[in-house]
Amino acid sequence: MRNESIKVGVIGVGHLGQHHTKHYASLQDAELVGVFDTDTDRAISIASQNSTKPFTELSSLLDVVEAVSIVTPTKFHVDVAAACIQAGKHVFIEKPITTTLEEADRLLLLAKEKGTMIQVGHIERLNPALLALRPFTINPKFIEIQRLAPYTTRGTDVPVVLDLMIHDIDILLSLVDSPVDTIRATGLSILTDSVDIAHARIRFGNGTVASIMSSRVAKDKVRKVKVFQRDLYATIDLLLGLTEIYKVVGDPDEDSQAIMTAPFEYDGSGRFIAYHKPPVISGDALRMELDNFIKSVQGKETPIVTGKAGREALEVAMEIQRIIIQDIH
Ligand code: NAD
Repeated sequence: MRNESIKVGVIGVGHLGQHHTKHYASLQDAELVGVFDTDTDRAISIASQNSTKPFTELSSLLDVVEAVSIVTPTKFHVDVAAACIQAGKHVFIEKPITTTLEEADRLLLLAKEKGTMIQVGHIERLNPALLALRPFTINPKFIEIQRLAPYTTRGTDVPVVLDLMIHDIDILLSLVDSPVDTIRATGLSILTDSVDIAHARIRFGNGTVASIMSSRVAKDKVRKVKVFQRDLYATIDLLLGLTEIYKVVGDPDEDSQAIMTAPFEYDGSGRFIAYHKPPVISGDALRMELDNFIKSVQGKETPIVTGKAGREALEVAMEIQRIIIQDIH
């Protein structure tokens, strides 16, 4: 474990990379050394806003950092990350890790050879509303996730499965402790030539079933997770930051954290439903992710979303996408 700050840089300072830069500039354990972007004017502008240095060559930035965030468009992740890992740097790669599984495997292998760490930016894992579930024992039997977004040009270079649904695939894989067994999926193109709406039904080895729906053709944003299990129902609004849990209990006194309880009659059992609204501790999820990355490089923490987890989410996403394309043709 180390206490000295980690010299870090940001590669790709567009829409999201500017926020990586801003956070590194103020994280206690990070020393922001500079940024690199193929658009030099953009690099100069973001560097000056954050009192850091713009680099015109990737290799020059890599000479002076220990770790980097890679926030380029997804199709460039593999080549940029490979260059960074080859140079022995720890990498935080924005989601999705890469555009193909072969690319993800190449990076994982390279990182293993070089002894560097890969972390992936599946930011929803740190959504405060999802974190509020932590004190409860979650053993889901059925999960429903819905993510709807109005159309924007951003992200349309990839199908909705890789742009939006992959967030929920990662959430799902973190909630269910069992391998994926079968996948059914359907989807269609509405506004672009790629898939804009997708629905997947995923069955896990332990019998848990999930239904995930993602769309970039919507009037309003929706991001909801519903978890059903024996004697418990949880509903999580990732957008509003609201988590509500309904639990069946034998005696209202046995659940002191419940906000209220109401009698629940079934088969003469005379039990109660306890309603919980656990505190959702607001925090900037991106900042928390990057802080976790830096502390993982220092050896103080472990990465919340590893390269392996990023690869697993991609594998499920690619399979869903493959089934949808097969279904369309
Ligand atoms: P963007 O197009 O706004 O920015 C990308 C930047 O990378 C641009 O400034 C571009 O000039 C630069 N660039 C392109 N190729 C480069 C290269 N080879 N080397 C260095 N710089 C290069 O894109 P964005 O919306 O910021 O998305 C970037 C990544 O972040 C994508 O992988 C995307 O999927 C991901 N993303 C994740 C989330 C999330 O919720 N975690 C949200 C948005 C975007």
